[in-house]
Amino acid sequence: MTVAPTTAPIPRLTLAISACLLGNEVRYNGGHKQSQLCSQVLGRHFDFRPLCPEVAIGLGTPREPIRLVGDPAAPRAVGTVTRERDVTAPLADYGTRMAAELGDISGLIVMQKSPSCGMERVKVYQDNGRPAEHGSGIFTATFARLRPELPIEEDGRLNDPVLRENFISRVYAYGDWQRLCREGLTRKAIIAFHSRHKYLLMAHNPLKYRELGRLLAGIGDHDPAEFGPRYFAALMAALKRCATRGTHANVLQHLSGYLRRALPGEERREIQQLIEQYRSGTVPLVVPLTLLKYHFRRHPHHYIALQAYMQPHPEDLSLRNAI
Ligand code: SF4
Repeated sequence: MTVAPTTAPIPRLTLAISACLLGNEVRYNGGHKQSQLCSQVLGRHFDFRPLCPEVAIGLGTPREPIRLVGDPAAPRAVGTVTRERDVTAPLADYGTRMAAELGDISGLIVMQKSPSCGMERVKVYQDNGRPAEHGSGIFTATFARLRPELPIEEDGRLNDPVLRENFISRVYAYGDWQRLCREGLTRKAIIAFHSRHKYLLMAHNPLKYRELGRLLAGIGDHDPAEFGPRYFAALMAALKRCATRGTHANVLQHLSGYLRRALPGEERREIQQLIEQYRSGTVPLVVPLTLLKYHFRRHPHHYIALQAYMQPHPEDLSLRNAI
């Protein structure tokens, strides 16, 4: 029997990335910080736009390292030896330029702890020489301020399976929105986009799921060119929250409801059993989802077939095997 695919093909997207994470020897000491996850695993599915802010602003390699000093909320980047060398403005300018130029990227992966690239918990040194660990690198802080919806993550945090799955899911949601914008924002297209992401949003943020549902209900009163970016900003903020076993299990229950009429009691009980095993931490998410996908291939449902939740990222990344 021919069975219908449960999801649309997954496109190849582009990520900007700190060049040292791809093995480029651009660090202050002439070395790199190659990430196997980025260069080997993610490299199979994404095109990369490597960038090194410190090299881009003319600091050579090797070079005197810089560090953050002053107010952690508005730090300055200065030389560790030559304190009067302040490169805050050039790094911020480069962030501004890249945020405007890299319109085609769907995400940004940055090197942790860097005074230029770090996203959070970067050491900010005080006058007494002691660091307060809660600053952001100048380049990344500027970029994030100008592109607040863009998924940004640090290489170190990507080692956490839940954060990794969350980031990659957001990247594909962002890529889907970019496609929508290229094709033209219409009310119908925005509603279809929201519909596709309904269960993904429910898993990440049940509260915002309800709020965004109410927002969408009023779309008829608005110009899609004004409404679309406002809706998308709220969606991407909501997706930043990581799904839990409880919220995933809730979504799995909703999905299983679409099979109620198609399956005999024994098979429905098997699904319920696996959902409960997932909820209690006995099996990973991929287990109940694989069974649900199997049944949806045998009993296709047009609404479920469109859901991003069923396959938000390439299967061979195995992101749901570890959560
Ligand atoms: S952390 Fe950023 S600035 Fe430092 S070497 Fe890597 S890419 Fe360049």
